[in-house]
Amino acid sequence: MRNKIVAGNWKMNKNSEQTEDLLNELIEKMPIDTEVKVIVAPTFVNLSSAVDHLQFTSIEVAAQNVHQSESGAFTGEISADMLKSVGVGIVILGHSERRAIFHETDALIASKVNTALEHDMTVIFCFGEELKDRQSKNHFNIVENQLRDGLFQIAAKDWNHIVLAYEPVWAIGTGETASPEQVQEMHEFIRETVRKAYGSDIAEDVSILYGGSVKPDNAKEIFSKPDVDGGLIGGAALKVDDFIAIVTAF
Ligand code: PEP
Repeated sequence: MRNKIVAGNWKMNKNSEQTEDLLNELIEKMPIDTEVKVIVAPTFVNLSSAVDHLQFTSIEVAAQNVHQSESGAFTGEISADMLKSVGVGIVILGHSERRAIFHETDALIASKVNTALEHDMTVIFCFGEELKDRQSKNHFNIVENQLRDGLFQIAAKDWNHIVLAYEPVWAIGTGETASPEQVQEMHEFIRETVRKAYGSDIAEDVSILYGGSVKPDNAKEIFSKPDVDGGLIGGAALKVDDFIAIVTAF
């Protein structure tokens, strides 16, 4: 079933004390009757305490990355088993910062997706074109290739563990948002691409989030589009009032 989802990617922000403060404020202010699934992704070292903090709430915790191997000599990396062992069952993969700064390729992202699914994790799969791709009108091709090369190796049965997050790189952290029409046009294309590869049931059921400078004042219009099922939020997720306003924009 298609869920309404608002996920906050905290990136490399908030130390342990600040994480607790942010979570406490979130718990205090989050409307209890919301039908929106709310997810937060603190940094690795704060995942365990976030899970503890949120245990009696409906807010879920995601990791921002995972390594593709089970274990071994991979200094500085974190495995899916480690995440599961502290109660984290969701992971963000393919984020444009991982692609651009850490040189993650579609093939690497595909192997991380496979590993996460083998551990029954839910994957928030991020993808989206750069400004030059949109300017050269190549954005649909880029998005289709990212889906085919990073995700479409999965089995049909695994789609209930997938959330898609379309994030045009030119709109991430820039204050520039794709227009609601641009978002709907791309989300419709994404759903159609999933439909061609996996059929209508999966295409209709998958939640497709938009990410890229979502703010309280533009969330409502973006979320009102028929193929938009929520948002992946960066900067605004660090301000509780803004994040809640985005959640309630549904
Ligand atoms: C993101 O990094 O996934 C993101 C959408 O960031 P922002 O909301 O700050 O553009």
